[in-house]
Amino acid sequence: MRVLDRFRLDGRVVLVTGGGSGLGRAMASAVAEVGASVAVVDRDGARAATVTRELTAAGARALAVTADVSRAEETERAVSATVAAFGRLDVLFNNAGITSVAARAHEFAEAEWRRVLDTNLTGVFLMARAALQIMLAQERGPSGLRGKLVNTASIWGLGGSQLHPVPAYAAAKGGVVNFTRELAAEYARDGITVNAIAPGFFQTNLSPRMREPDFATRFGSTVPLGRIAQPEELQGLAVFLASSASDYVTGQIIAIDGGITAV
Ligand code: NAD
Repeated sequence: MRVLDRFRLDGRVVLVTGGGSGLGRAMASAVAEVGASVAVVDRDGARAATVTRELTAAGARALAVTADVSRAEETERAVSATVAAFGRLDVLFNNAGITSVAARAHEFAEAEWRRVLDTNLTGVFLMARAALQIMLAQERGPSGLRGKLVNTASIWGLGGSQLHPVPAYAAAKGGVVNFTRELAAEYARDGITVNAIAPGFFQTNLSPRMREPDFATRFGSTVPLGRIAQPEELQGLAVFLASSASDYVTGQIIAIDGGITAV
């Protein structure tokens, strides 16, 4: 097979949580562009529908599903709707996430802690559980794989934040990092790879802070490459991890951060 052909996703089915905005939207459009059928799952149904319309207009097969990843029954419904529409599930981008109020741990509200953990960590578990049940029952492909999970962690799952206090977010993303390794070790012999993307600073709708006029310069100045990133800059890595180009990669946390974690 030619190298670029290894990045094609023709006939593959990809589910993206948080696919209605930001990084998830970029992931959805990237995998659709290289041939995948895509389920765009978001708790904001209007956003999911907009992205699905864009993908369909560009010639892809796409499905919008309104679901909250922190609710078990909704994660199961999202996966079942995907399989009902497209017949299988090859790749889960476990990407939906929220930010939290900036407060130090000694004054952080318990309800806010639970809200962040519910989506950013429990949501990742619930979606993985629902997807794994389908993947384990699928036939193995040519390189012996049955499916791929790609979790969205964060550089704040790899180290603390010096910019503002995010204890719940950092705890959840640190959980995603080692949950990724645990699943990779556990499911390798079942033919399921599990990796994570750890983004640095991308301009999305994640936080109101990102809409402040000085966000790009203030955060960009802390990055070795000297700038924040746009969501499209994550597309190459997303396609790599979803495609057979990465079939021998599992259990890895790949930072895409302009060099923040290098220093
Ligand atoms: P975003 O707000 O632009 O997009 C997130 C999407 O997820 C939204 O459409 C939102 O409706 C959806 N969502 C939130 N909670 C949900 C839930 N419980 N169920 C279903 N959908 C839900 O933000 P983004 O920056 O694209 O964030 C995507 C992921 O990337 C998150 O996990 C975030 O923590 C992570 N991340 C982002 C950055 C960054 O700089 N933008 C950096 C590191 C990690």
